[in-house]
Amino acid sequence: MVPCNCALVDFFRQGFFFGKNVKRVLGGIKMKYQRPKGTTDIIPGESERWQSVESRARKLFNKYRYNEIRTPIFENFEVFSRTSGETSDIVTKEMYDFFDKGERHITLRPEGTAGVVRAYVENKLYGPEIQKPFKTFYMGPMFRYERPQAGRLREFHQIGVEAFGVDNPALDVEVMSMAVELLRSFGLKNLKLAINTLGDIESRNNYRNALVEYLEPFEEQLSADSKERLHKNPLRVLDSKDQNDQKIVEGAPDILDYLTPAAQEHFTNVKMLLDTLEIPYEIDSNMVRGLDYYNHTIFEIMSDSKAFGGKWTTVCAGGRYNGLVEQLGGPETPGIGFGLGVERLLLVLEAEGISLVGDSGLDVYVVGIGDKTLAGTMKLVHEIRQAGYSAERDYLERKPKGQFKAASRLDAKYTLTVGEEELISGKANLKDMGTGKEIVINLTDVQSNFDKVLENFNS
Ligand code: ATP
Ligand code: MG
Repeated sequence: MVPCNCALVDFFRQGFFFGKNVKRVLGGIKMKYQRPKGTTDIIPGESERWQSVESRARKLFNKYRYNEIRTPIFENFEVFSRTSGETSDIVTKEMYDFFDKGERHITLRPEGTAGVVRAYVENKLYGPEIQKPFKTFYMGPMFRYERPQAGRLREFHQIGVEAFGVDNPALDVEVMSMAVELLRSFGLKNLKLAINTLGDIESRNNYRNALVEYLEPFEEQLSADSKERLHKNPLRVLDSKDQNDQKIVEGAPDILDYLTPAAQEHFTNVKMLLDTLEIPYEIDSNMVRGLDYYNHTIFEIMSDSKAFGGKWTTVCAGGRYNGLVEQLGGPETPGIGFGLGVERLLLVLEAEGISLVGDSGLDVYVVGIGDKTLAGTMKLVHEIRQAGYSAERDYLERKPKGQFKAASRLDAKYTLTVGEEELISGKANLKDMGTGKEIVINLTDVQSNFDKVLENFNS
């Protein structure tokens, strides 16, 4: 027998583990079951807005021939640590990583691209039989240990695309145009597409040297993070959120002056193709992006919505990552993609007064009169649903008046009222709740031809 403090065990059994109430008093402290900090519940009423964004994205991606990929929500730690960059915010501060029971180092994915690239390599999606570019999209939760605030969560959601196997600037512009089209399709106007290039390895090395030379005299004034990054990964300093760092960086040399002719040509073509599609953009030569794997074209789509206090905030970001596939063990393969933050998009849409709720109202509420209608109303509701319409009924044995009230609360378009008599005669009253118009219908028609019933009603 294991010795135990029975009073304590009893307390936990009754009061804590097996308690019915969510709140319990434990030693004077009120314990609450709350969602973890930085997470949200997307409850009915809100989830419709999510579905609306997701379905619009799916339709758009389909037009551009991107198909969905679903990769695990957790991956081996190295998938992210090797790709995001050892000095990136994600790897240094934001990883949700742990050792599982088999001592494997696991990370909840902080972003989508690395996992998709891992899957691309593992499933040999570069094979000769696979059409190039290989185009795919994903949507789902991402995890970063951040300080939660508006538009910054610990569990958040991204919708993203990746395209592999082609270095053509037309693909860079296709990806950007898709992101812009998606955001514009919601009716968003105040958007800014900021672009830059990080060039190829040679451009980047040349620039890196020039940047270090410029930053070194400011070394003592830089933030602790930037000081550390100055020699490990100086481009990261350009991405610093520290205000003083940002001031110093303003005078830094411009990457655009260090591009090799090939990198220059790629960027020139990207700009030319954006002009061809009449997509406005701004060049921000200080933009570097938070992840190390980017090269050539990088971009952000920003909004100055009041959702973020009028400050330009990035909703969607992406770029080219030639070399990433090789880093994860695949053949040399170019790639480009973007990730869009769903929470941030929804915040902007809300602040701009853009409603996403479509016509998800109720078609028919079947009102049952008397307790003999249990099976009859059940059957009618079932038949209406089979006919492709939404239907509801009473489950609380309410009087007809209460049921009509429920129908209006649910914004039902029609009510169909049946008592015992109607079930015997096979005829019942269908009422348009908006206009008040009523007709008598044959109940057999509900099953066989409900479309026709409504057509006749409205003619
Ligand atoms: P930031 O500079 O705002 O931290 P980031 O560079 O870390 O952004 P990316 O890794 O490029 O962001 O992710 C793409 C998009 O995902 C962002 O533009 C944003 O919309 C969204 N996003 C990133 N981190 C979060 C978060 N913690 N909560 C909510 N959305 C996020
Ligand atoms: Mg970040």
